[in-house]
Amino acid sequence: MDWFNKKKKGIASTEKKVMPDGLWVKCDQCGEIIYRPELQKRMFVCHKCNYHFRVTSKEFSEYYFDKDSFQELDQNIKPVDVLKFKDSKRYSDRLKEAQKKTGLSDAVIAGEATIEGHPVAAAIMDFSFIGGSMGSVVGEKISRTIDRACEKKIPLIIVSASGGARMMESALSLMQMAKTSAKLARLADLGIPYISILTDPTTGGTTASFAMLGDIHIAEPGALIGFAGQRVIKQTIGQDLPEGFQTAEFLLEHGFIDIIVPRQEMRATLGRLLNLFWFFPQSNAAEPRKAPPESRQKEDAGKKATAVSSDNK
Ligand SMILES: [Zn+2]
Repeated sequence: MDWFNKKKKGIASTEKKVMPDGLWVKCDQCGEIIYRPELQKRMFVCHKCNYHFRVTSKEFSEYYFDKDSFQELDQNIKPVDVLKFKDSKRYSDRLKEAQKKTGLSDAVIAGEATIEGHPVAAAIMDFSFIGGSMGSVVGEKISRTIDRACEKKIPLIIVSASGGARMMESALSLMQMAKTSAKLARLADLGIPYISILTDPTTGGTTASFAMLGDIHIAEPGALIGFAGQRVIKQTIGQDLPEGFQTAEFLLEHGFIDIIVPRQEMRATLGRLLNLFWFFPQSNAAEPRKAPPESRQKEDAGKKATAVSSDNK
C-alpha cells in the first residue's frame, strides 16, 4: 500500500524550480509558449495573461531597485547544520547543492540600494534556495538589514518569496520569527517606514512574522500568500475554501494587503511611496521633505505604548 511505502522513505520534499530552462518557456497560467528573451524583456511577466513568473533574488534586485544600485552585504554569513538533520538527504548536503545551484549562501540577499534615488536597506528572499525557507541565516540577515535601517535612518524594504520556516533547523528556524519581529518593533518605535513586498509564494513562518508586519504591504498580481497550505486548512475546518483563496487579489479584497502592483510598475510605486513617507537628506529626489522632528517620533512612540496598554485592559 502506498502509505506504507511512503513511511519507509521518510519525508519526501519536492524541489520546485523557479524558472524552467530552455529558450522557450510555457506560461504556467495560460499555456502560451513564449520566447525567453522576450519574456526577460518583460521582467518575466506573460504578455498574454499577465502571469508573474517566479524569479530569483538577483532579478528582483534589478527590477525593483535603481540600476546597479544594490550593494550586497553580510555575504559571509553561512548556514551551519547544527542539528545534524537528515530526512531523505542530509541537510548539509542539501545546503551544498542549493549553494552550488543558486550561487547564493542562503535563501536571502541583504544590503543597501536606491529606489528612484532614495537610499533603502533591503533584503530579498530567493525561492530557488530550498524553497526560500527561513532558517537562522535568513533571520540573521533580515535582522541586520533592519538594524542598518535603524542606524542609518533609511526606510526598509523586504521582498518575500518563501515557503515558510526551514524544518531542517527545527526550533532554531521558528525563533527567527520572534527575532525579526522584535527588530521590526524597534524600527517602528523609531518611526522609520517598512514596506513589505509579497511575491509568489509568501507562506508559513515568513507570513507569520516580518512579511506581514510592514507599514505598507504590496503584493505582486496573483501571488500566493497565506500561512498554512490549502489542503491542511481544508482538512482542519472540513469545508471547501472560497475561490481565489490565498491569492493577492483575495487578500486585497479582505484587507490583508494594501495594494497589488505589477512588476513593471513596482519601482515607480515604491519611489512615490518613499517620497511621501520619508525625508532623504542625501538622495537626489526632486523635493526633499522635512524629517519628522525628534519630538514627533517620541510622541508617536508614546501613542503606540498607550495603544498597547489600552488593548491590555
Ligand atoms: Zn500566460
